[in-house]
Amino acid sequence: MRKLLFVALAALMLLPSCTQKPKYRILSCGVRHESNTFSTIRTELENFTVMRGEELFESNQPWVEYLRSQKDVEFIPTTHAYSWPGGQVTLEAYEQFKGEILEAIRNAGQLDGIYMDMHGALHVEGMDDAQADLVKEIRAIVGDSLPISASFDLHGNVSDEFLSGLNYMTGFRTAPHRDGAETKLRAVKALMRLVREGIRPCIAHAELPMLIPGEKSITEVEPMHSIYARIDSIEALDGIMDATILVGYAWADLPRSAMRVFVVAEDSAHFEEAGDICLSVAQQLWNKRFEMEMDVPSGSIKDMIRRAYEIPDTTVFISDSGDNTTAGAPGDNPQVIKALLEEHAENALFAGLVDKAAFDQCREAGIGAELTLTLGGVKDYVFGSPLTIDAKVIDMSSEETMAEDNGIVLIESDGLKIALLSRRTSFTTVKQFEDIHLNPLDFKVVVVKLGYLYPELRDIAPVHLIALTSGFCNLDMRTLPFKNVQRPAYPLDLDMTWNAHLQ
Ligand SMILES: [Zn+2]
Repeated sequence: MRKLLFVALAALMLLPSCTQKPKYRILSCGVRHESNTFSTIRTELENFTVMRGEELFESNQPWVEYLRSQKDVEFIPTTHAYSWPGGQVTLEAYEQFKGEILEAIRNAGQLDGIYMDMHGALHVEGMDDAQADLVKEIRAIVGDSLPISASFDLHGNVSDEFLSGLNYMTGFRTAPHRDGAETKLRAVKALMRLVREGIRPCIAHAELPMLIPGEKSITEVEPMHSIYARIDSIEALDGIMDATILVGYAWADLPRSAMRVFVVAEDSAHFEEAGDICLSVAQQLWNKRFEMEMDVPSGSIKDMIRRAYEIPDTTVFISDSGDNTTAGAPGDNPQVIKALLEEHAENALFAGLVDKAAFDQCREAGIGAELTLTLGGVKDYVFGSPLTIDAKVIDMSSEETMAEDNGIVLIESDGLKIALLSRRTSFTTVKQFEDIHLNPLDFKVVVVKLGYLYPELRDIAPVHLIALTSGFCNLDMRTLPFKNVQRPAYPLDLDMTWNAHLQ
């Protein structure tokens, strides 16, 4: 009897572990890039920052922390690759990342869900639609029933084929971008709803034949402000999970370059309602197209320089918008430096020019050295040409920053301060100015290789002007040599008509 009791007790003690529910196995992956097809420079494997597996845990991203904190989730991060916007991605780089992701999925065993951390404007040389290819290859391994959720930058061009591989999608709701982290978290939380509750959403979407650059679709100003403000009330509706407006990426000469609206219904019962909402938002966007213009004055570089000096007692930021590295341009066109020197611009800072050779020459010569430099015009040989100047090296970043390949060298030529960068980037933060001991607000004119100002600079800039410089990110779409985008499209075909319809 005592023996029986002991056996029964032992069985009871074992019971919890026998009946414990297996964890949901969630895998993540991503290849994020905004590919400018007009650019002369390719984005290669070495240009990507890649986090593999548990390296992702070091990134402190809210979506990563969320998945790690869920007691019922086993999180399996794989390859996450990201590169600064640039020219089209090499096949070698894409095949490398795709190979790693597919191998990890094959080796992962039973999965319950996949999250794809994407940008949406990836283009790979020689391929029609690499993003659609990636999700298709993933589906070939995991089948059609596994929930896949994805998040996008609002400058993504997400084709029908790519979308057909997804069960849920969402995108940024701010440009300049302030909500990247919360967008990814939303995509992951939605994925967990799909996994835990077994729901399978239906996504209504509409494609608008519109090529609108980010500078003309800032969500903090009209008409986009009011249109994006509709998203909150749409997703609060019963049975609707999300509404996404992707402005799209206009500097990609591809058939899928367009503006899009997506409304995610929880199930097929709410699909018709999602479709009606989608059409209503799409039609509103189309009707407001002529109002999608820049929110700050713009004009030729010389006009913008002269205008800046007419505005008293304040710093004026000027964007060198045609050579905007954050939209994929090379960043080595010195045309604005030439204009500033010709205008004898006083108390002006040019921040900055991407030129590794000049950067190295100055770094080697050291602070105080005087030398003759030939700047830029190498990567962007289409719109730019080299500029020779006499300059003095006056400052440079710390050795620590130099070691991180983030260094800046400051030179002065004829009273103009010029920041030289060793790698392709733009000034987007205050810290970059501080690295060379500058406060941008001490200058009368600060020129940056951006279109719209990034949030930190937008928040401090007293006045902003956009110089319509030539380059691969020309803000006048009608001047670019489009061959492959679908026509008619606004603003290439101004007299076209269009009515909203679902895809
Ligand atoms: Zn973007």
